[in-house]
Amino acid sequence: MMGAPGAGKGTAAEGVCKATGCRHVSTGDLLRQAIKLDTPLGRKADGYVRRGELVPDEVMIGLVTEQFEAAPGALFLLDGFPRTLVQAKLLDEALKARGSRVSRVFLLETPRDVLVQRLGGRRLCRKCGASYHVTNIPPRRPGICDKCGGELYQRPDDEEKTILNRLEIFERQNADLVAHYRGQGVLHALDSSTSREDTEAKILGAMGRTGAG
Ligand code: AMP
Repeated sequence: MMGAPGAGKGTAAEGVCKATGCRHVSTGDLLRQAIKLDTPLGRKADGYVRRGELVPDEVMIGLVTEQFEAAPGALFLLDGFPRTLVQAKLLDEALKARGSRVSRVFLLETPRDVLVQRLGGRRLCRKCGASYHVTNIPPRRPGICDKCGGELYQRPDDEEKTILNRLEIFERQNADLVAHYRGQGVLHALDSSTSREDTEAKILGAMGRTGAG
């Protein structure tokens, strides 16, 4: 699942995995968890994530292949990975070594002003990670998670100056990735500026519902 920060990758991935049984691997979530738990990986990644910069490729491929090792033979939906051409090539190699491949790539496209509005208003639950938006998807009680009562917070990298840095980095890397996957004939670009349901339906349609192949 590719797309700019705020394109709705995490939200759509959650729904698609629920419908298909794919395993959702969000590299952003894995890094945030590692940072919260102050693991060696978390300590390595912390500064990059805070500044909205990319964590080094070799760290990222290690993190993702660990997920493959944990569930051999499973179908994975990778959300937020790969983000560079080097990562895409390392992923191709890692999958080939396991007799597998990238079968579909969904590129979620959303105009820049919508991305900035979505990211700036995004709030997450500290306890369960559920995602809200101050105006688009407000919680029933301001600042409190509907699902678990946890406290909602703004990701430090969702503050305005970091948002612009993240969008710039995305735009710089995206063209190479698009060319890579277009060359493999697996790229599906879709408009994700409307609703979560609409985006999920488009992805499920392109997956043929089973999630296989
Ligand atoms: P996300 O939740 O996908 O927006 O990711 C949050 C942050 O985690 C990014 O701004 C990067 O600092 C880091 N990150 C997540 N995925 C990757 C990746 N594939 N390569 C490098 N850094 C990543």
